[in-house]
Amino acid sequence: PDASVTVLGLGAMGRALASAFVHAGLSTTVWNRSVGKDTELVDAGAQRATTVADAAATGGLVIVCLLNHASIHEVLDPAAHELRGRAVVNLTSTTPEEARELAAWAADHGIDYLDGGIMATPDMIGGPHASILYSGSTHVFEEHRQTLELLGTAEYFGDDAGLAALCDFALLAGMYIMFAGFYHGAAMVRSAGMSAKDFAGRAEAWLTTVAGSFAEHAVRMDSGDYSTSDEQTLVFTKSAVDAIVRASRDGGVAPHVIGPVKALVDQQVADGHGMEAFERIYEGLITGQESD
Ligand code: NDP
Repeated sequence: PDASVTVLGLGAMGRALASAFVHAGLSTTVWNRSVGKDTELVDAGAQRATTVADAAATGGLVIVCLLNHASIHEVLDPAAHELRGRAVVNLTSTTPEEARELAAWAADHGIDYLDGGIMATPDMIGGPHASILYSGSTHVFEEHRQTLELLGTAEYFGDDAGLAALCDFALLAGMYIMFAGFYHGAAMVRSAGMSAKDFAGRAEAWLTTVAGSFAEHAVRMDSGDYSTSDEQTLVFTKSAVDAIVRASRDGGVAPHVIGPVKALVDQQVADGHGMEAFERIYEGLITGQESD
């Protein structure tokens, strides 16, 4: 690992990142906009910097973990001069386009830029289940890989700085929709007196089992051939989803989550694809058009 690192931003995630470096014995300089968030880190051996320029001037790898794209510019722009020639790893969540904009800004200022997407919560940092996706400067990734591995498994996607954020957000999209699906099911059984806790175990087992078929679905999605010989056609799925929507309404559950799935299925059936497989609703997503 590097001998020294600087962490800019000490929210819940920034503190976890800095703590992993301190505990690995790296000389760690920390900075945060508001005071008081560095107390435990300084007690554990980190060095406090009072300005971003001071923090940047200490040398070593610079890790940025702030709120969003705008806050990164607010913090880095005034210190661009001190950051010239340095390696900056941005672990703030941004959109792919924002990551590319930051990479272009960094290149204009002679800064070597790597973007990262953290697939972990702060308590997981440094543990076996933390994974961080990276893209941007190959040089920064290769040179600092050992240091980055202190935070979690490090995976590099290529020199387009937007790729890590793209994959990060694609995974999070699936996660949020899955959680909302669990909440929808919990709301349905609640009408019969079952608690969310009682439903959780069942939902986990079922969703884990069905997730095992992603690769099978992917074959049709990648080939664009949705022909199917089994009975699970879109007409069959439409009947099932319509019934789920009716059952939800009967139980006083709003169709906000299942509704868009119904709309995607209805669209494909209306377009004449009723005898094809359920996965065809993917085609309704990749057009980029919002249905009504
Ligand atoms: P927090 O809300 O705990 O911390 C936000 C940090 O950003 C604080 O240090 C805050 O400073 C700083 N900040 C916000 N706006 C500005 C600004 N204009 N100028 C300077 N500093 C600013 O968030 P987290 O630490 O949890 O998250 C940080 C990043 O990590 C986010 O992009 C998040 O999406 C990402 N992430 C977080 C995960 C999590 O589970 N927490 C998981 C994966 C990614 P101040 O203390 O002064 O307010």
